[in-house]
Amino acid sequence: MKGKVAAMTGIEEIQIKEYQLPKPDKGCLNIEVTKSNICGSDIHMWEGKHLFKNHVLGHEMVGKVIELGEGVETDYSGEKVNLGDRVVPVYYLTCQKCTACLNGHFNICTHGSDYQGQVAEKHPHFTGGFATHYVIQSNQYFYKVPDKVPDNVAAGANCGMSQMVYAIDQAGLKVNDTLVVQGAGGLGLFASAIADTMGANVIVIDSVAARLEEATKFGASHVIDMNSFPSIEERKEKILDITNGEGADFVLDAAGVPAAFNEAVRIAKLGGTVIELGNVSVDESQNIPIVPGLITRKCLTIKGILRYQPWYLYKTLKFLEKYSEKYPFDSLTDRTYSLNESQIAMRKAATKEVTRAIIEPNKKE
Ligand SMILES: [Zn+2]
Ligand SMILES: [Zn+2]
Repeated sequence: MKGKVAAMTGIEEIQIKEYQLPKPDKGCLNIEVTKSNICGSDIHMWEGKHLFKNHVLGHEMVGKVIELGEGVETDYSGEKVNLGDRVVPVYYLTCQKCTACLNGHFNICTHGSDYQGQVAEKHPHFTGGFATHYVIQSNQYFYKVPDKVPDNVAAGANCGMSQMVYAIDQAGLKVNDTLVVQGAGGLGLFASAIADTMGANVIVIDSVAARLEEATKFGASHVIDMNSFPSIEERKEKILDITNGEGADFVLDAAGVPAAFNEAVRIAKLGGTVIELGNVSVDESQNIPIVPGLITRKCLTIKGILRYQPWYLYKTLKFLEKYSEKYPFDSLTDRTYSLNESQIAMRKAATKEVTRAIIEPNKKE
């Protein structure tokens, strides 16, 4: 059987390539991709701001099992898998041998991106989500999707959503704590919903009214519009107001600009925690002045979070199953494109003409 992939052949350049879908090797399985989200990091790659080149784009995907390799009987939670089952893979692999893996930090495995980043020409070709098929490797975590979770919600579960579940867990959020979320994009909304279910008070900061409106549907008890509170001091005051002078136990940066980290350090309360995951670039242009003494004097904890431990995808799918009716996760994707339209979809996503585009690689045109 032949299939197609959308490979990145240059900066802002995509080519659809056709390959023979290989028989799955021992321990591997082939899935037919039903939906694949366009994530912010896909846009970074397409724009050439990332190391990957000539790889198959897409990593937030969901698909149906079409072929099981020798020895594959269950998913990574021990549940039986059969042909036709919907599954989501963790998009990165864990080598279990690098220094990060040896210390249990599977989320930062130094070989985590090898498979996702390999060139399209290399076996087994189907290594990304913008493709009719995807080959799940023998050491790659994957889970069955609960019936109640629709494809477009499941597709995004393996990236931002799992990262938020992991981040909040790692940070140690507790009942009645106040979490301030900077940025009401997908990550911020997920964080808000998760913290809400844990009995925390959620305050979301953003500068776009429509996004703040959305945040209230995702569990935020208060929102702060940066246009009404233009300075850090004013926003900090507002947080003190809302919390009866208590302040923010946790500040989560999902805004992704260096200035947000500086603000997080300033608004976190004494003994508070700053969760940093919005800033991902390590370019020198991201250097900003910060007052380290604030971290000392306030005894702050700074938690950096990249990806998530692989089994958090399982927890996230269970979370989505439980809360699929409480929060409008379904509303977060707005336009669907075929595989041949990948280039158009990327352009529209990059220019923000669509907020959350989704590729349906097997869509009939
Ligand atoms: Zn992603
Ligand atoms: Zn490793």
